[in-house]
Amino acid sequence: MPVRLAFVALLAAGCCWAQLVRGWHKVSTPHFELVSRYDPALAAPLLVDLEWARAVFEANLGVRPRGDRRVLIYIPGSPYEFEQYSPSAWANGFYAQLPYREVIVLRRWFQTRHALLHEYTHLMLRRRGGRYPAWFEEGLAEYFSTLRAEKDGPVVGDAIHNSLALLRQTGWLPLSYFLDPELPREFDSQAHAGRFYAQSWLYVHMMRLSPSYKDHFSQFQNLLAEQVSTGQALSRIYGKSPEDWDADARSWLQRSGFPLERLNPPAAAAAAKPEVEQIGELEVEIARLTLTAHRMPAPQTRSEYDRLSRLASGRCGLQASLGDLAYAARLWRQAAAHYSAAADCGVPRQDLAEGLQTALSRQPLAAAGELESFTPETSSDFANFMLGVGRFFERDYAGALDAFRRAGGLAGEDLFRMTRLEALAHAWLGQFELALAAAERLERMAQSPEQKLTAQITREDVERARARASGPSREPFSRNVLRQYQRLDGVVTRVDCLGSRARFWVEAGGQTFKLLVADPQEVTRGGETSEPLEFACGPQRKEVIVGYQEQTDASTETTGRIRYLEFR
Ligand SMILES: [Zn+2]
Repeated sequence: MPVRLAFVALLAAGCCWAQLVRGWHKVSTPHFELVSRYDPALAAPLLVDLEWARAVFEANLGVRPRGDRRVLIYIPGSPYEFEQYSPSAWANGFYAQLPYREVIVLRRWFQTRHALLHEYTHLMLRRRGGRYPAWFEEGLAEYFSTLRAEKDGPVVGDAIHNSLALLRQTGWLPLSYFLDPELPREFDSQAHAGRFYAQSWLYVHMMRLSPSYKDHFSQFQNLLAEQVSTGQALSRIYGKSPEDWDADARSWLQRSGFPLERLNPPAAAAAAKPEVEQIGELEVEIARLTLTAHRMPAPQTRSEYDRLSRLASGRCGLQASLGDLAYAARLWRQAAAHYSAAADCGVPRQDLAEGLQTALSRQPLAAAGELESFTPETSSDFANFMLGVGRFFERDYAGALDAFRRAGGLAGEDLFRMTRLEALAHAWLGQFELALAAAERLERMAQSPEQKLTAQITREDVERARARASGPSREPFSRNVLRQYQRLDGVVTRVDCLGSRARFWVEAGGQTFKLLVADPQEVTRGGETSEPLEFACGPQRKEVIVGYQEQTDASTETTGRIRYLEFR
């Protein structure tokens, strides 16, 4: 299950323990649910504040969560317990967008508002769809963590003093770290990551606030979301090289004062009234196990699930959480039964449907087939749109188009985004007439200057793809490399990431071959693209041409070493 995780590094050392209360409490507002042993008197105002922030995001970023279950915010009973869940030993918090629910876990009650806003920004980005480079994700999350109310409306962009001090005292990290889509590996300590976050924050701060960047920020963001590299997006939107951009940020740092960004106030709404409920150990145990299920051996998870579901014995309020637990344990049928029971108990059906639909886009096909059979019938156009976006980013363009066709009733910004992805999907599939037709629809739809530029860029992308395809059809150079190796034309069904190596499961001619990428540097990337080799870990389906050397490796149970890869 590809669970996306991210970390927040909070820099201040030492800590101020909030007062622990004796029993577990759940504090709920319409969109959040905080489970912890901390004093509800501390938690309640924070959730009210988070509801406000959510409304500000909605009013300003155009992200409209719909049919969403409450985001679960969980603060474990001890830092030791946190470490059992956390993907990193030093992180002070992380978020996970699980297929059925969004979760934020914090190490403890410390700088909680900053941490929650940081993680919540990640969630909003994820809901918007797309994948962003690490610097952008973290920089934006840090930027919005300063959101606060002023008399005449919300403001964001306060200087983060710890970050400024770090940047001024420890110097500048090389630009190359920020051109890489992933968080650099060597940033495995809080101190290193802190520098990366600080500099990322500064780049975003400059791009949101400096006159030469701010007007085109959202177009820049849209390109990044579609996995255009940082360097290319800078040059296409701003006509700047990464070096120019970096130099601009260095001079931004030298300013004596920073401007603030004023945001639109959220639509007027009555302040949320938090509800506080004392909860039992059973409910906490279900949450705990759900968060650790993916790390435990399957039989153990299943027997724990059996135990807890027997203890819960049909209690209405626990059905949705039990559904999540069953889901995390990959017990699809049980998950379906609990979700239906939850719906019967009054949990809005669409809250559960969105989880299942999102899961569809994340699951391997076999599981998706099974899931499809019990997806509640509320399947909305939006869910199909999200499903299509998921497939698009998995590079399953035919699957994306198929989902988009079923998303008939979209409008506005969603329809615009979908049409852009339709145009690109057709283009990447070589269906240029359809791609052009979609690009033309996009041009007609475009209203704001931003949309017009997006439509123009889309048309250029389509035309470039067509020009490449109709150019003199010579075999790409890289195919010469392929001739030296054993060739397989098949489908990658899964990739196991093993540190710097990876094991590919390739289905070809009715057989499954397990092949090793021993060193990504020695693999020639085939096809027309000059992009570097990249692949997602976990179950997937991608057509591929593989060239490999026969070589048995007992430690990874592989029979060949991959030297050529061409995704099709
Ligand atoms: Zn983060």
